Amino acid sequence: MTDKPLRPATLAVSAGRPTVEPDAPLNTPITMASTYVAGGDVEYGRYGNPTWTAFEDALGSLEGGRCISFASGLAAVSTILDLVGHGQKVVAPRHAYNGSIGQLADLEARGRIVAELVDITDTAAVVAACDGASLVWLESPTNPALEIADIPAIRDAAHAAGAYVVVDNTFATPLRQQPLAMDVDMVVHSATKYIAGHSDVLMGAILTGDDQLYDVLKKRRDLLGAVPGPFEAFLALRGLRTMHLRVDRSEHNAKELVRRLEEHPAISEVRYPGFGGIISAVLAQGAMAADLLTHKTKLWIHATSLGGVESSFERRRRWKMEPATIPDGLVRMSVGVEDVEDLWDDLRTALDDLVV
Ligand SMILES: *Cc1c(COP(=O)(O)O)cnc(C)c1O
Repeated sequence: MTDKPLRPATLAVSAGRPTVEPDAPLNTPITMASTYVAGGDVEYGRYGNPTWTAFEDALGSLEGGRCISFASGLAAVSTILDLVGHGQKVVAPRHAYNGSIGQLADLEARGRIVAELVDITDTAAVVAACDGASLVWLESPTNPALEIADIPAIRDAAHAAGAYVVVDNTFATPLRQQPLAMDVDMVVHSATKYIAGHSDVLMGAILTGDDQLYDVLKKRRDLLGAVPGPFEAFLALRGLRTMHLRVDRSEHNAKELVRRLEEHPAISEVRYPGFGGIISAVLAQGAMAADLLTHKTKLWIHATSLGGVESSFERRRRWKMEPATIPDGLVRMSVGVEDVEDLWDDLRTALDDLVV
């Protein structure tokens, strides 16, 4: 075998495995340990765990950086926001994940930081907002508006201002976007979504190419304690092994559904960034029609969250936290890996009923 860099599908399958030798297990086992015999590198269960390490090696190789895993995506988010100094400015998309926006609002209400929310598609406005910032938070595509940021332009402005740049890469996955290769400082994941992929695990991760930042973040995890369970890490790694297959299939299904939804008279707008498995569809008749749709289907499950093998959807404005700039009748659809014809039959039947 040559030393050529491995492609993503191969990394997803092969990275983070035990050394191949007689009688070694193919997969890193679940290590249930709160403490380790003294004198080694780990010492205590809050500082490290071999099952986390296997997951971190695999995700790190896909994103092209070093990985630190967390109990949830929001635990990773709060660990980064905790680095922002007192009274300093954070720039973030107005349509970012509502838990991230919620944390920023909470920190601002307590006088800890100043948050400036921007329209991420207005690059000139985002670049202007970078002035005086210490952290620029990006999510691209955004949730649930599916807007795309000009990451290189914003990164240049942020770095010129001396700010760190973070990209929440949950929607895109490392298979569709690798922000560390674009020289951003940190990537955040809710591994709960596409990485674990089966709607049965909460986990998060931060990735960075900067060794100093890695040490700072690792120390924050040691201190704050938002660590994952070993079983969760095992399941997330098991999910990651097939992420490329799942992402390809849900993207294939999503592209087909976008074409068909655009032609359906019950739908007034379809938002899709051109890749991935998330579609936001706006019902022509608004919130009531959207609520009806999400209760009429048999295959599509009415549920929040995304990135699982099963197709699910919800009207986003049913959440009080959702910004008023998101249309009332917008349904965010997480397209799963089922047969697209069955998904469409189920959707079309429900949509046809809404057209009077
Ligand atoms: C779900 C999600 C999060 C939060 O992750 P949890 O694992 O639910 O804590 C953060 N960012 C995005 C884009 C998400 O979709």
